[in-house]
Amino acid sequence: NEFKSTLEFHPLKDNDAVIENQITVCVRKRPLNNREKNRSEVDVVTVPSKNQIIIHEPKHKVDLTKYLDNQHFRFDYVFDETCTNETVYKFTAQPLVKTIFEGGMATCFAYGQTGAGKTHTMGGEFKGKQQNFKNGIYALVATDVFTFLNLPPHRDKNLVVSASFFEIYGKLAYDLLAKKQRLKVLEDGKQVVQVVGLTERTVNKVDDIMDLIKKGSLERTSGQTSANSNSSRSHAVFQIILRKADSKHLEGKFSLIDLAGNERGADNSKSNKQTRQEGADINKSLLALKECIRALGKKGKHCPFRESILTKILRDSFIGEKSRTCMIALISSSVGSVDHTLNTLRYADRVKELVANDFCEPNSGESEESQNENDVLSLEYDLLEN
Ligand code: ADP
Ligand code: MG
Repeated sequence: NEFKSTLEFHPLKDNDAVIENQITVCVRKRPLNNREKNRSEVDVVTVPSKNQIIIHEPKHKVDLTKYLDNQHFRFDYVFDETCTNETVYKFTAQPLVKTIFEGGMATCFAYGQTGAGKTHTMGGEFKGKQQNFKNGIYALVATDVFTFLNLPPHRDKNLVVSASFFEIYGKLAYDLLAKKQRLKVLEDGKQVVQVVGLTERTVNKVDDIMDLIKKGSLERTSGQTSANSNSSRSHAVFQIILRKADSKHLEGKFSLIDLAGNERGADNSKSNKQTRQEGADINKSLLALKECIRALGKKGKHCPFRESILTKILRDSFIGEKSRTCMIALISSSVGSVDHTLNTLRYADRVKELVANDFCEPNSGESEESQNENDVLSLEYDLLEN
């Protein structure tokens, strides 16, 4: 607390300027929930400014407020617990909407531990078990796509909007707009990947696309008997597609991805073979994803999209100078999640290593000697690549 009182706070304001980057990496902190409050868990996350975050990692097992190790990170934006979905949207996905009208691919990922707020951010805020789909990033993007479509010069381009919604689990995809029908992911000789049989529904107005968002989201969480009933183990991909009305030629695509939980079945002692395989598939795809985003916009850097189904499907998002991507890392504020939180921030930091400047300390979480899981995993990954 003494430490906190010496900090200067400069929180994000809604009218702050929006950065126009090819890659944007940001973090959103969720407030303590009732369960955490009832257990008297402490909030170990401080957001002193719109692009800084400090994690107070306890080094003492009994008194969690003593001997704190303060880990500093810096990102394009850091959203504190007072930010709404609309604010997060304004600085993350909204600046990418125009990209798909300019012949580019836009992609927005929600990354983080299960329960950190990925679905809340992408799908919409929860009130109890009910989800308000209207303020999710899916719906906010859809609304702006239709606004753009009806404005000059796009109005005269004769474009049609369509949408797909599917889940990736292991090596298969499941269509969320067709009762979780199993879909094969096939690759042709030119390395072009297709999700065979995937529903692509044409939409004429915002309400049409809202219906698909609701339908697909509810489909994702239902169906308890299917193998992939636990949505935290699968990646959900919602895509808004723009095509020329006559030729069906692809103009642009916005992919919005609610990634599988990154905690990768930490409890190995209890996990069975299937759970371990799930964890391995998730790991592989998240590692490949990190490298693919890093390669975006860097000429000559190898993009290892072939390493996972997720990155194969998103291949066209990682190529082309016009492609833009945004990652929102979701974290819990609770002391009980501090290890997962640090892992999430280290991953996000690797996606885009920002250069420290004079008003911020460098990201301390990524020291040379740090032997965190991400380091070990990416080392293994580099070896595979060479
Ligand atoms: P995930 O999809 O990452 O597993 P959820 O989005 O389902 O996590 O969030 C878990 C719970 O936490 C939900 O009840 C959700 O409403 C709540 N929650 C997440 N983020 C926030 C936030 N920023 N503010 C308030 N509640 C949140
Ligand atoms: Mg979720």
